[in-house]
Amino acid sequence: MVQILEREELVGRIAAEEWRGGRRVGLRSWLLTTKSREVAERISELYQGEVVRTTAGGDSHVRRLHARGIMVTVARVAHVRRRLTLESRQGLVHACDGSRVLPPMPDEGKPCGCPDDLFARRAAARSGAGPRPDARLVFYLAAAPELGGFSFQSTAWQLYESLGLVLHESRRAGGPVQMELVLREQRMATRSGLDVSCTYPEAHSVRRTSMVKSALHLAA
Ligand SMILES: [Zn+2]
Repeated sequence: MVQILEREELVGRIAAEEWRGGRRVGLRSWLLTTKSREVAERISELYQGEVVRTTAGGDSHVRRLHARGIMVTVARVAHVRRRLTLESRQGLVHACDGSRVLPPMPDEGKPCGCPDDLFARRAAARSGAGPRPDARLVFYLAAAPELGGFSFQSTAWQLYESLGLVLHESRRAGGPVQMELVLREQRMATRSGLDVSCTYPEAHSVRRTSMVKSALHLAA
């Protein structure tokens, strides 16, 4: 499954998080990175893009997209990777679906030993003892499939959990599906009374769709 994703010829990637000092920070807007100026401009028109930077020589364009939701088309279930992983200095040491070992680990299919309880899972990940979400999608923009394929990667628990439902429905639909990636803001008060908020992505509303021909050659 991973090989299929790596082989894909992608025109850009969209993120909703950054890593600062080893910690994941959820972004309040989407971050697009592409090598194509035309793609950057077209997407900026569609999703209220704002220039973040263009590298010298213009070979990388980064735009902040202020749209809350992005409707995407996923060509096949294999274009969704949803797993929990833990890495050490030696590389990948745990890959699972929360209860069973996933490839490329040698004990594929065997019980992985992660706790059933979601809170316990999150606590283990926070302390570095347990795996954390590793979700990746390859998709076409429903509003502009002719631009080509994009990837989206996230380590947010909310995306990981919402993708579980999406995958279930994708398998039932058995063909290309449309879903919406949405940024949600959650507000909470800390113990000292501070009002803080965090933003995370979620996947929603799967429905079967047909793809335009120009998009399908990349999906083959
Ligand atoms: Zn596990």
